[in-house]
Amino acid sequence: MALDAYSLCPCGSGKKVKFCCSRNLIQELDKVQRALEGKQRVAALGQLNQLLKKNPQLPCLLHLKAVIQISRDELDDARETIDCLLKAAPKNPASLALGAELTLLEDKVTEAVSQVQLALEHLEEDMPVELFGALVSTGRALLQTGDLLGARGHLMFANAASQGANEELASLVAGLHRDPKIPLLLRDGLDPLPCPEDVAWEGEFAAAIRCWSRGRWRLAVEQLSSLDDKVPQQREVLKNLAIARGYLGDLPATIAAWRRVADLESLELDERLEAEALAQLLDVETNREQLDEIRLIWDITDASQLSERLLSDDQLTRIPFDPPDGETEDGPPPRHVFGLLDRSLPKSGVDLTRETVPNMVGVAYLFGKETDREARIEFVTVKDDGFAAASDLLESKLGEEKGSDRSQETVGSVSAIRQALSWNWRMPDDTPRDVQQTLMAEQRREMMFQKWPTTPLSILDDKTPRDVTGDASYQVRLLAAVLLLELAAEQNHWELDFNELRRDLDLPEAGVLDLEGLKLEELSIVRICRLPFADLSEEQLLASLQLAATRQASRAARHAGLELIRRDNFENTGELDKAQVYGMLANFSGNSDQAVEYLHLARDAAVAAEDSPATWLLNELSLRIVRRESELAQQIFEQIRARHLEEPGVSENLYRILESYGMLPQGNPGMPNPAGLATPVTAPPAQAETSQTLWTPDADSATPDSSQKPKESKLWVPGMD
Ligand SMILES: [Zn+2]
Repeated sequence: MALDAYSLCPCGSGKKVKFCCSRNLIQELDKVQRALEGKQRVAALGQLNQLLKKNPQLPCLLHLKAVIQISRDELDDARETIDCLLKAAPKNPASLALGAELTLLEDKVTEAVSQVQLALEHLEEDMPVELFGALVSTGRALLQTGDLLGARGHLMFANAASQGANEELASLVAGLHRDPKIPLLLRDGLDPLPCPEDVAWEGEFAAAIRCWSRGRWRLAVEQLSSLDDKVPQQREVLKNLAIARGYLGDLPATIAAWRRVADLESLELDERLEAEALAQLLDVETNREQLDEIRLIWDITDASQLSERLLSDDQLTRIPFDPPDGETEDGPPPRHVFGLLDRSLPKSGVDLTRETVPNMVGVAYLFGKETDREARIEFVTVKDDGFAAASDLLESKLGEEKGSDRSQETVGSVSAIRQALSWNWRMPDDTPRDVQQTLMAEQRREMMFQKWPTTPLSILDDKTPRDVTGDASYQVRLLAAVLLLELAAEQNHWELDFNELRRDLDLPEAGVLDLEGLKLEELSIVRICRLPFADLSEEQLLASLQLAATRQASRAARHAGLELIRRDNFENTGELDKAQVYGMLANFSGNSDQAVEYLHLARDAAVAAEDSPATWLLNELSLRIVRRESELAQQIFEQIRARHLEEPGVSENLYRILESYGMLPQGNPGMPNPAGLATPVTAPPAQAETSQTLWTPDADSATPDSSQKPKESKLWVPGMD
C-alpha cells in the first residue's frame, strides 16, 4: 500500500499525512513502508535513522521506529525511542498506547493500565488501532496475573469499542462471563449502577458515568470519590467506586472499596454479604495460612528390588504418569509413581464405608540409579498434622533397600484451609457406582457441615465459625464465608443445602426471594437461584434462564429449566425448544446418571419436534466414554455415523470428541480436519462423581484427581472390536 498525502499519518494521530507531521516526508516514508511490506525491517530501520538525523523529534518517524524495535524484541532501544516519542507527542493516544504495549513487555502491568488510561483521557475521536491493541494486551496481561475483574473491564470495553467485530476477542469476553472454572461472583455483571432518582448530586454522578462509558475509569473514580466525600455512604456511589476500581486492576483498593460496601448498614444484608464475599475472594489474606509442601528424599540401595515390592504392596497405588519426551534437564523420569495410602486398599469396594476407604497422603517417585546419582525415592507430601505419620509410613516401606542418606526440602505451599477440607480417596476398582456416590456425598457433607465450622479462619480473626456463632460483629463476614463455600460446592456440582449450615450457625437463611419490588435485571448473579421460579411469569422465567445460562450459573439455570419444563404451555414459547432445555439440564446436572436421563429426554424431544437429535447423541457419546461404557459408546458412535454424519458440524464435533479422549487412531482417514469449528456441545462429563478435592477460593481449579480413576485405561477406539 503506497503512502500518499491522503493516507493516515503513521504517527497514529488520526490525521491525514497532508495535515500531519509526515507532510514533508511523503516519498521517504513511502520507501520505509515498502521496505516494511517486504519484511526488510533492518533496511527500514536504517532509513528511519537517516531521516531522524534531520528530524529527531518527528512523531511519525519515532513511532515507526519504535514499532520495528518492538517487533524485533529490542526492548531497551524501543524504550529510548518511545521516551523521545512521548516527549514529541505527549497527548497522542496512539503514542501513549504504544508506550503501554512496551510497558507490558517490560512486565509492568499496573503502569500499563495507567498509560492506557492516559491514552483514553486524550482520545477525542475514533480509537486508533494502537489503543485498541493496548486495551486488549492489557486485558490479557491482567488475566495472566489472575486479575479477572481488571481483565474483564479492559476486554469488555475493547470488545464494545470494536462492536464485537473481533471474533477472538468476543469469544474471550464471553468465556470470561461463563467459564465455570471462574468463581460465579467474579462472573457477575460489571456495569455501573444508575443514579438514584431525585438526588441533588445527579449531575456529578452523570459526569462520572460519562467518563466511565469512554473508558476513563480513573477519572470516573476521581469524580465518584469526590462525590463520596460530599455525600458519604451512598450505595450507588460506593458500589460504582468498587466496580471501577476493579477495572483499574488495583487489587488492594478494590478490596477496600468492596469492604466499604459491606460495611454500609443501610444496605440489604444480601448485598452487604455479597460485597464482603467478593472482597474475601479477592483478598489473599483470606487464606493466608499456608502449609509447606515437603519433598523427602531417601537414597535406596536397589531400585529394582524395591519397585517389585512396592508394586505388590496394597498401601501403594500406582499413579500413571506421562514421562516427558527424552531426558529433561533433571535427568531421567521416575520409573514408577505411587500414591501412599493411609490404609490397605480393600480387596473389593462392594462393602466400602467411609471408615474403610484409603486416603492418599502423599506421592512417591521411584528413580533408578543414574551415572552420577544413587537410586532414590522422592516423597512429596504436605506438612500438616499427618506429616510425621505419612513419612514414617513410607520409610517403613523402604525396608532393607533404604540407603544411608535422607534429605528434606520445601517445594511449595498449599492453603491450610484447602488442605484441611480436602481428601483424596482411592477406592477399589470394583466399587459400585452407587457406593461411590453415597460415600462421596457423605464425605462432602461431613467436610462442609462438620469440619469447616470447627476450622479457624483468617477472616474471623483466626476463630472458627462455631466460635463466633451469635456474635453480631462477625455476621456479615461469616455469612460471606458460607456463601463462598456454597458457591464452591455448586461449582463442583455438589448438592448440599447450605441453609442447614446457616441454621446450625444461627445465621439468617438464604431463602426464596420476595418478588414484590424485585428488579430482575438488578439481581446479582448469585441470588438468581433464589427466585420463586414457580411464581414467575413466562417472560421472567425465560429472562432468568437466559441470564443464568449466559453466566453458567448452574443452580439457577437448573431451577429455571425444570420450572419451564413443568409448564404445559412451554412448547409454544418459541424462544427455546424443549430439547435445548433438557440439554442444558444435562449440562448443569451434577450426576452423570441424571445427565444421561436428561440427554435421552433431549433426544426424544428433538425427534418429536422432527429435529435432528445429533447434538444430544454427541453429548451422550462423551458421557459414555467418560463412564467407560464402551459398548454403549460404540452403539451411539455407530448411530451417529450411520444417520447423522452428513449434518452440519456433526463429523467435526465427533472428531473433536474422539480426539479429546485420545481415541483417534493414527492417521485416521475418514475424518475431516476440525478447523474452525463451532463450540463443541459436550457436557462437562460427570466431573462431580470423581471430584474429590474441594475448591477453595485461593485455587483456580480443583487439583485433578489422579488416583481413583487413572487416565490410563482400556480406551475404546472406533473400529476396535
Ligand atoms: Zn503525524
